[in-house]
Amino acid sequence: MSRRDELAANLEAVEERIGAACSAAGRSRDEITLVVVTKTYPASDVDLLAELGVTDIGENRHPEAEDKWAEVTHPVRRHFVGGLQTNKAGAVARYADIVQSVDRLKLARSLSRGAETADRELGCLVQVDFGTDASGRSGAAPADVDALADEIASLSNLRLDGVMTVAPLGVDPRPVFDQLAALAAALRSGHPGAVVVSAGMSDDFESAVEAGATHLRVGRSILGERPPLG
Ligand SMILES: *Cc1c(COP(=O)(O)O)cnc(C)c1O
Repeated sequence: MSRRDELAANLEAVEERIGAACSAAGRSRDEITLVVVTKTYPASDVDLLAELGVTDIGENRHPEAEDKWAEVTHPVRRHFVGGLQTNKAGAVARYADIVQSVDRLKLARSLSRGAETADRELGCLVQVDFGTDASGRSGAAPADVDALADEIASLSNLRLDGVMTVAPLGVDPRPVFDQLAALAAALRSGHPGAVVVSAGMSDDFESAVEAGATHLRVGRSILGERPPLG
């Protein structure tokens, strides 16, 4: 099977799962954006995915994202979804369309300065950590989300698009997705444009669809299992 056929088959299987989850939840497929996370896979895969109709692509590391996206020839929306050091924010602000992992004021300010220098507008999601995982995931504490969101909304060249979370491994993610949806609804009362709720990965995106997610971040189910990182 060619790589193109393999990606097409995997994408179709994921679309079937999304469709079934939408039907079960009484939602419409067009309320949901599939962000295909292509980390560790080459730019040629991104181009194949774009040819297969994928509009949104995610990466979690700099400079892998920068190098890969420089090679991509199709127009796709570029989401940076990984933990980000403040000293790399300026670089990421030059090439990402949306940063889903904004979890602290200092990072927001660095992204703003970078976007200003690059004369670009950068979409931002506040990454929330609901603290259900002992392994120290990144993300803002729920109590800090309002202040961070207000800051993002007030900073130049940043646009507050919504919220994102990564569910803890090995437990039912649904309570976390429900908490994220509730937090997103509260945030929208002050920031009506913050409509994005990014939740759900390969193993749990049905649950995210049920909970009201607007953006799913799916890697392995479409690209294949990644080799373990060294
Ligand atoms: C890798 C990654 C994903 C995709 O995970 P899969 O398990 O490959 O579907 C989603 N979100 C983030 C933040 C990631 O780093």
